[in-house]
Amino acid sequence: MPSMPFGAPRSMLSSILSPTPSSATAGAPFGVLEWSHSRQYLYETCNRALYYSTELARGGWRRDATDDARAAYRLKSLTSLPLVVGTALHARAAELAKAIRASDPLPTLVAMRERTRHTLNHVWSSSQRRRAEWTLQPKQVPMLREHYYGLVPSADQLARTKDRVERALISLNGLALWGEIGALDPDNIALIDKLESYLLPPRDGDVGGSVRVWAAPDLVVRYGDGGQIVVIDFKSGPVASGSALKRHIAQVASYAVQLRVTGVLAEGEECRGLLVYLHDGTELPFTVTSDDIDAAAARIREGALAMSLARTMADHAAMDAVNEARAADTPEADLPVIVERARRESPGYAMTPDRTKCRDCPFREVCERHQDPAVGSVPIDVAA
Ligand code: SF4
Repeated sequence: MPSMPFGAPRSMLSSILSPTPSSATAGAPFGVLEWSHSRQYLYETCNRALYYSTELARGGWRRDATDDARAAYRLKSLTSLPLVVGTALHARAAELAKAIRASDPLPTLVAMRERTRHTLNHVWSSSQRRRAEWTLQPKQVPMLREHYYGLVPSADQLARTKDRVERALISLNGLALWGEIGALDPDNIALIDKLESYLLPPRDGDVGGSVRVWAAPDLVVRYGDGGQIVVIDFKSGPVASGSALKRHIAQVASYAVQLRVTGVLAEGEECRGLLVYLHDGTELPFTVTSDDIDAAAARIREGALAMSLARTMADHAAMDAVNEARAADTPEADLPVIVERARRESPGYAMTPDRTKCRDCPFREVCERHQDPAVGSVPIDVAA
């Protein structure tokens, strides 16, 4: 039995949603270890892209930031059509779940369609017309990677996207899941609105301190007091298979880590996972065993350590570069650029050898790879 009953008013929600203070990681031998699905994805796609996102972009909003840091800060905010579609569909799913929790009438398909259309049109037209505003306020104004890098979808591709959105909304609206969770006590439905972090503590023999994990499931429900917990993840695309399906299952297991850490799942307890593919409404249930949760926690720790090691290698490269520069009487004013270059080129932040990954990379503009004509990365207006 879980140590914190799911059905107790607000206790389950507050235990999942309450972020733990960041000071808890202070003084850890490896510094603050951090992990999120997006960081891990970036790291696995290209170590250099992680550098642009987590190091170069940091402080890019400051007046004294270098041109590259300012650019990386802007580029980090680029979105893409598939991402905007996925976010909008997740928002519709959240609205349905919220209505069920509040015992309100469910949003109609017409209302869901209208809200989604509004979001997509807003992003599309901002992205086309507000380039100058985006440059000044990249976090406030949406900009599509497709517009920025001149990869504008054809009329056929846009029609397919519209079709995909319509299919997904119909599937979402008709899911049997809503009827099932509609019968539950609202306190047994946990909807995570906002990404919060939690601390994954080390186990005996683990290297490093706690890991600050930024990850949240779409929806968690318990079927009846004392019943089994189900972690639900919505996917906007078609049913996955092979390695993609394994990744989706592992992602759900990583959400279950949070349930264990927050006491919702007891040590050794398993739960259920449910992948919902909105392309055709397929619901894929599976068991998340205690071993799956252990393995997911180990993967989080391993990923956080690998990223921390990349940062440490960059620190060493930067120190060596400063020592060399000073030994050569280089003016102090030149050091920031030397340090940035040394960090960027340290082995932990190597560029991916797989150039096919560069096409979808938002950081092409600041990456040396942009010189490669096979990749091509000049923003469309600049190129004109
Ligand atoms: S353009 Fe290619 S090499 Fe450069 S950061 Fe992006 S994925 Fe990595």
